[in-house]
Amino acid sequence: MAVSDHVDLPTFMEGVKKRNPYQPEFVQAVQEVAEDIFEFMQDKEEYHSQQILRRIAEPDRVVSFRVCWEDDNGNVRVQRGWRVQNNNAIGPYKGGIRFHPSVTESVLKFLAFEQTFKNALTGLPMGGGKGGSNFNPKGKSVREIMRFCQSFMTELYRHIGADIDVPAGDIGVGGREIGFMFGQYKRITNNFTGVLTGKGLEWGGSLIRTEATGYGAVYFLANMLATKSEDLTGKTAVISGSGNVATHAAEKIVQLGGKVLTLSDSGGYIHDPDGIDQEKIDWVKTHKTHRRGRIEEYVTAFPKATFVAGKTPWGVPCDVALPCATQNELLGDDARMLIANGCKAVAEGANMPTDLDGVHVFKAAKILYAPGKASNAGGVAVSGLEMSQNSERRSWKEEELQQMLKDIMSGIHKSCLAYGDQGGGYIDYVKGANIAGFKKVADAMLAFGVV
Ligand code: GLU
Repeated sequence: MAVSDHVDLPTFMEGVKKRNPYQPEFVQAVQEVAEDIFEFMQDKEEYHSQQILRRIAEPDRVVSFRVCWEDDNGNVRVQRGWRVQNNNAIGPYKGGIRFHPSVTESVLKFLAFEQTFKNALTGLPMGGGKGGSNFNPKGKSVREIMRFCQSFMTELYRHIGADIDVPAGDIGVGGREIGFMFGQYKRITNNFTGVLTGKGLEWGGSLIRTEATGYGAVYFLANMLATKSEDLTGKTAVISGSGNVATHAAEKIVQLGGKVLTLSDSGGYIHDPDGIDQEKIDWVKTHKTHRRGRIEEYVTAFPKATFVAGKTPWGVPCDVALPCATQNELLGDDARMLIANGCKAVAEGANMPTDLDGVHVFKAAKILYAPGKASNAGGVAVSGLEMSQNSERRSWKEEELQQMLKDIMSGIHKSCLAYGDQGGGYIDYVKGANIAGFKKVADAMLAFGVV
């Protein structure tokens, strides 16, 4: 078949849209990848004829199930749970579980698709998956959360396994929820195995897993700045979110000499012109994680700061920006505003926080812009290291793990350079990450034939 006979990008995307109606997030994630992959595949007949991208964009399976639980008042509640197993060409399915009212099949399909590329980029043998539920943990008692997690696992357990599919945390799922789910898995199967990551240190967890996503994003940012012979010393940073990723990104920025100006949650953002130092970060961690409070209350504790309700922080002038909250939180106009205010680098701590318009704005401005699949891969990378430690039945030292995380982030940066260097000092990190991640999975799929 002549190269010109292959379907073009618009026709391919029409098909994706038609097959996935009412799934805008999934279509968006596929589009962002396809824009780069179609160019890369132009002269690569085998990827076309074997329909590799078409196959990666069709999950191996989507399991959807009912999750019933009883609230503290004895009411029966019904939620929907999912596990999307996108692709296991290079290793067991791997990816987090998200509990949030915004969770839909579309959101989980986009996350599992992205995870496939991200996991490939880490260099570790992990396929891509994602799961979750539209359960809203906000305002629920610990007992209610426990009952929900147990009920969720009572179905999920039959679809996962240490060599099959290894879930972890994501939005709304932290160490506590992983504990409840691991306990239920063990109870049902009588099997103590590394079936989840993000476990507690006493029962098979890994050091630095909690810090890894945020730290990794800042290591990646530092790698990007180094290509311009710059570092984080004295740089101002705008960060969105105030959960695990955002607070650890803030911590690493401060450690490397930068000044963090903002954090946020769904209610709005706080701006602290003095900088959010380690003491204030510790306050946020305790406030958000243990007291389950709102970021708004930061201004009571630190009165020099201001709270801006209902807004994202992208209008605050900064040198670097780290969107660490959720998907589509940074839109085209936000991207334009960041650039107009002199922002030099953006590293995504969240998954797909920038919408397609915003991605195109960053690319056109040729700033240092890292997509989440590259810059937030540190979390799943340390999950991969947790799996290795579980298989070895031992725990590695913190220094070893810190070094491995740094090396993995540098390795991802190198992969992005290999496929994203556009000459003239511009590196298209989106393209580099998409192609490097795709190539690894695609070549494995070619080896397996049509399966
Ligand atoms: N939820 C995280 C992510 O988006 C971590 C997944 C994992 O550790 O498996 O990459």
